Order: sequence, then C-alpha cells, then structure tokens
Amino acid sequence: LDLGERGDVRIADPAEAGADGERLAFRRHLREAIETGAILLQYQPQFRANGEVVGFEALARWRDPVRGVISPATFIPAAEEGGLIAALGAHVLRSACREAAGWKKPLRIAVNLSPLEFESDELPGLVEAVLGETGLDPERLELEITEGVMVTDAVRAMATLSRLRALGVRIALDDFGTGYSSLSYLHRFPLTTLKIDRSFVATLGVTLEAAAITRAVIQLGHALGIEVVAEGVETPEQFDFLICEGCDLAQGYLLGRPLDASAYAHLTGG
Ligand code: C2E
Ligand code: CA
Ligand code: CA
Ligand code: CA
Repeated sequence: LDLGERGDVRIADPAEAGADGERLAFRRHLREAIETGAILLQYQPQFRANGEVVGFEALARWRDPVRGVISPATFIPAAEEGGLIAALGAHVLRSACREAAGWKKPLRIAVNLSPLEFESDELPGLVEAVLGETGLDPERLELEITEGVMVTDAVRAMATLSRLRALGVRIALDDFGTGYSSLSYLHRFPLTTLKIDRSFVATLGVTLEAAAITRAVIQLGHALGIEVVAEGVETPEQFDFLICEGCDLAQGYLLGRPLDASAYAHLTGG
C-alpha cells in the first residue's frame, strides 16, 4: 500500500511504479533541457489586413537529440506537474524579450503564460526585471493568458493584471471561446487583445454558427475597445471572411508558420 497524492490508499503495482519512474526521468530531462538551452522558441507572425506585420507570438519547442522535437502540448503540462514551470516560463520570457529587443523594427512579441505562472506572486516582478534587463519597450510585450485564470480567483487576477498593465505591457486573452467564456470578464479586466480560438476559425465556411460567433466576437471586442486577433488561419476564404468582418489581426499557417527567428529576418529588419 502507498498513499496517493490526495492521501487515498492505493495498492502499489509495478506498472504504476514504472509510470512514476518514467515521469521522474522526464522531469530530470526537462530540467536539463532548460539549463542547457535545449528549449528553443519559434516565432509566428501576426498581420494586419493590409499585409503589414505587427508582431510575433513566441512558441516553445524542445529539441532533443534523441527524441527529436517535443511539442509544448507535451512538456508544458509536464513542467507544471513537475514544479518546473517557473523556470521554464522565466526562460521563455527572457529569451523572447531579448530576441525582440534585437529587431530593427519595433514589432510586438507575444508570450504565453501558463495559469500557474500567472498565479505566481513573482510574475509582475519577473516581467519588470526582464524588461529592465533587455531594454524592451513594455508596449511591445504582450502576455497571453487564458480565461481560467480570471475565474479561479477574480480578485487576485484583477490585482495581477493591474500591476502588469501598470508596467505598460499588453494582455491578450488566448483561446477565446473555449473556456468559461463569461462575457462579464471581458469588460471587467484590463485586456488589450482578444484571440479568437482556432476551432472557430477552422469551422468558418463549414457551420453557419462559427461565422455568427466569430462576427459577434469581433464586434464585442471592438465595442469594448479591444483588438481582435484570429488564430489558426489556414485558407484564403477564412482570411477574407475575417478581414471583411473587421478582424484586426490574423495569424496562421496561411500567412506564416512558427519558425526560427532567423527565417523572419526580412520581416523584423534583421
Ligand atoms: P496556443 O497558444 O493556442 O498557440 C497556437 C498553436 O497553434 C501553436 O501550437 C501553433 O503552432 C499552432 N498554430 C498556429 N497556426 C496554426 C494554423 O494555421 N493551423 C493549426 N492547425 N495550428 C496552428 P504549438 O506551438 O504546438 O503550441 C501549443 C500550445 O502550447 C500553445 O497553444 C500554448 O498554449 C502552449 N505553449 C506554446 N509555447 C508556450 C510557452 O512558451 N509557454 C506556455 N505556457 N505555453 C506555451
Ligand atoms: Ca497563444
Ligand atoms: Ca491560442
Ligand atoms: Ca491553445
């Protein structure tokens, strides 16, 4: 018998011990990857309707010599469970800001925050320190959060968002429409950007509902003075629809895949 995480009694079985062992090995491996710089960033451009590039979203990649490229969908949750998200998040924020500070054009850089990072007391101090170190203009940094963080503890979330906005950084609500989606959060919290989730964009032209929801979200964002970004734009038809409806920015494989920064030197000015 052993005590499970929640204090419940479980019967220890060898298969489970194996899974735990694997998890520990993965965690050790991830810690090494953060320390040795094997966690890299790729950058995906965001464009206005007129084709002007506005900025990039930084997306983490783990390039392992043996396993190849490991998806953030795998190692971000593992980092959260293994208590490594603070180290990983600080590494990502610092790398992204340093990269953007080196661009000739003053483009924006968007960085994803996991809910655990957002809920940490250290976050505003970390952001302030990284802005200081890199010299990046705060208005060029956009932090992407998800709806869940505003639901868990609204009072605390409001305090954190206010501190971040006071530093001058932008706040984007990511994956809009997939979470709790209480519309009341939109006007209560100091958001600058709303990102329409890829699942809505993907079904534009497939279901009438997706078009109606997308149109409504764009109008809602604009009514509240919030910039609207569509993510996951893959076809010219999706792009045309979004532009026609007044969506401010678009991001997706049609316009540019996430790539190493060097691949976008023509857009950043080098
Ligand atoms: P996300 O923030 O929603 O990022 C967008 C995801 O959609 C990225 O997947 C991107 O590569 C992918 N994508 C972009 N355009 C298209 C498109 O046109 N079609 C399709 N099908 N997909 C597209 P990726 O890079 O695998 O990242 C997955 C998720 O992992 C991200 O979703 C984000 O939640 C998380 N993530 C990535 N990097 C970081 C990071 O540095 N920190 C944290 N906390 N989370 C991260
Ligand atoms: Ca994102
Ligand atoms: Ca997203
Ligand atoms: Ca997502």
